[in-house]
Amino acid sequence: MIVRRGLWKRGFRYRLNHKRLPGHPDLVLRKYRTCIFVNGCFWHGHHINLQFDDLRFTISDSGCCKIPKTNREFWVTKIRRNKERDKEELRRLAEMGWHCITVWECELKPAVREQTLDSLAFTLNHIFLQDHSKRQLYVTAEEEDEGVMMAAEEER
Ligand SMILES: [Zn+2]
Repeated sequence: MIVRRGLWKRGFRYRLNHKRLPGHPDLVLRKYRTCIFVNGCFWHGHHINLQFDDLRFTISDSGCCKIPKTNREFWVTKIRRNKERDKEELRRLAEMGWHCITVWECELKPAVREQTLDSLAFTLNHIFLQDHSKRQLYVTAEEEDEGVMMAAEEER
């Protein structure tokens, strides 16, 4: 919701949960050819490094989340799987020509929120300019209309 409102306020229009795209991105900005994922730090292992060497593994907890001491192996396995899946989904989206941006839960804390949203807006504009300098992007009037309609519905 924070990301949605923040982008809306900054003039960006989007679609939600694009079911047909790998990983079901939280927001899809077709005009920017960009998918945005808003990830919980724990479930997606933000800054957590899991290194597996045969049966031994080393874990470094991050500043924003820690793996519980109990059932540690269970959590490590689970988070490792999630991270691998995320990586695979981003790879597939990139292959399909989508840009992907991940926004982390800890980047949306009140103290840093506006800064995160500003830099997200900056990145989107940068992506748009880069795409347009590379090739002439063709967006049909129909697509534009549809985008506006969808966005208007979501705002209600
Ligand atoms: Zn985090």
